[in-house]
Amino acid sequence: MNRVYMRFPGGRSKALTLSYDDGVEHDKRLIAIMRKYGLKGTFNINSGLYAQPDAVSASGAGSSIAGSNGALRGTGGNGIRKSRRRMTLEEARSLYCGSGMEVACHTLTHVLGGNLPSHVSLQQIAEDRKNLEEQFQCLVRGMAYPGGHYDDQVIEMMKYAGIVYGRTDRWTHDFALPEDWYRLTGTCHHGDPKLMELASQFVEKQVRYDPILFYLWGHSYEFEEQDNWQIIEQFASFMGGREEIWYASNIEIYDYRKAFESLVYSMDGRWAYNPSATELFLETGGEGKHIGPGEFVKIG
Ligand SMILES: [Zn+2]
Repeated sequence: MNRVYMRFPGGRSKALTLSYDDGVEHDKRLIAIMRKYGLKGTFNINSGLYAQPDAVSASGAGSSIAGSNGALRGTGGNGIRKSRRRMTLEEARSLYCGSGMEVACHTLTHVLGGNLPSHVSLQQIAEDRKNLEEQFQCLVRGMAYPGGHYDDQVIEMMKYAGIVYGRTDRWTHDFALPEDWYRLTGTCHHGDPKLMELASQFVEKQVRYDPILFYLWGHSYEFEEQDNWQIIEQFASFMGGREEIWYASNIEIYDYRKAFESLVYSMDGRWAYNPSATELFLETGGEGKHIGPGEFVKIG
């Protein structure tokens, strides 16, 4: 029997996904750029921290924003950067719904792990999931750790709450597919000086065996604060529109991988049965194959 290597939908050997946090208003510009070049990704939202509509109508005045719970702190003292203004629920709905992007948890109020009692972590995760599902009328199963905080207990809580993956704030500079979905690492943050070098390596790489993934993460307010929107525009225009790349959200990659892992092989490994509802692609003995949902196919 030849070895079997997963291929992404359409037989593609590469996938690209993005993951951006906090639900700030600059996600609007980011999603416009992503859609222009056909990129997809995941937006991690705190469902307990939307801007209040009255704070938005007075958005010219910083003090009124500081009074709401809709802005991220993080400037030291009691300063709140206007560049980090979160969207109202209505703004978030009209941005993400129908955009093709995944909405995922980031906890209710951006708090998790550390010295929190486990029931508080569970509530932060479960309530966020429940709220987001009601607000966006979709299934929510992913998460990014706020502040990168997580531990084994948090991961247990996520499992209880039906969350299937968690993204850390670490990066690897490599293109390997995740092995531990609760400790997802990115290829890099968008501010990484190696971003375009890594992008070139990814595009040029000839894939013979396992497929590869470019996983980019960050916060859209960083583009505004550092006045470097050209970084993501350049990245998206370089990576977009390529035949060999599957552009997908985090959960689409997770679901596809799990469907592939459900393939059942005959004893001699020459036949495979696809019990999933997803068309699956693979490469074996230098040949591409695909197996439709419920099909039993000779692969070798
Ligand atoms: Zn965050």
